[in-house]
Amino acid sequence: MFLLTNSAGLPGLKTTLAKLKRGESALDAIEAGIREVELNAPCLSVGHIGRPDITGHVTQDASILCGKTFRAGSVGALEGFKHPISVARAVMERLPHVMLAGDGAARFAREIGAEAVPNQPTPALQEWEKWFQALPESKRRDWPQAPLIDLCHEQINKKSSRDTTVFMAQDRAGNIAAAASTSGWGMKYPGRLGDSPVIGAGIYADNRFGAAGCTGTGEMALRMLVPHALINFRQAGQSLDKAMKTCLENVRCLQGGLLSGLVIHAIDETGKLDVVAVNYTTPIDYYHWDGVAAAAVKHEARSVKISYAAFHKSAGQAAGT
Ligand code: ASP
Repeated sequence: MFLLTNSAGLPGLKTTLAKLKRGESALDAIEAGIREVELNAPCLSVGHIGRPDITGHVTQDASILCGKTFRAGSVGALEGFKHPISVARAVMERLPHVMLAGDGAARFAREIGAEAVPNQPTPALQEWEKWFQALPESKRRDWPQAPLIDLCHEQINKKSSRDTTVFMAQDRAGNIAAAASTSGWGMKYPGRLGDSPVIGAGIYADNRFGAAGCTGTGEMALRMLVPHALINFRQAGQSLDKAMKTCLENVRCLQGGLLSGLVIHAIDETGKLDVVAVNYTTPIDYYHWDGVAAAAVKHEARSVKISYAAFHKSAGQAAGT
């Protein structure tokens, strides 16, 4: 058995551990843990208290995957519900689909009786309101139909404005599951989906080879399908260390678009793990339980720097936009 979660997962750690120790399934254990994070996230980027998009709407992404059957469920741009992870789980169990987005996801959430969020201002919404009121009158006049592209570019890369929780666990029966939940980047363009709702980009799991999950710049994880690629490299015979190296080689090849911090969490079926923080200037922590110790232990991710500008220059390519 094992459990690996990022630092945002702390509020759900005890619940997930207790369930794994009691012999409950990895799917049940990580869903229950993430539900607690969705209510008590240590950051303003998970749950309905999260930072809104650029139009002031909090929309959430979540996904869950079973590494035995590869059944999966996800929701993207879901607005108004307390537990997107449970809506994602219900997509997996109650629909002939994998992914629902926007109004359809909200419709489904209502149909299954998912708990709605109270209609109350949150600190993140108050912060957004202040930002909005400080915009020039010319921008506010046509809101929300005003052009948003430039505003989005200006706001999107503020590092404090984002986070996600990812959970990866193996239960007593040897089944591995992975899941993620986030409200994505604060000030994202409306309708933006990150990596977290895309199976293979935000999370992936396979009982035979392990699990992986990303946090940070979802656009980077999406472009390289990092968690799915990592598990594929394992299947192709690479050790966890080698598979992580190969993923980092891929991430290094990204050119243009949003290139910022990315954290790759990976654990193989034997419990060997590697967590790498690409291009962070502050320490990135995660929690790991090895199936034996009484509690999970906090560790710091390995730090890796990728100088995109230098790389693109040496490859004879223009760096940047
Ligand atoms: N990966 C998330 C997203 O792109 C955000 C984060 O984890 O920081 O929506």
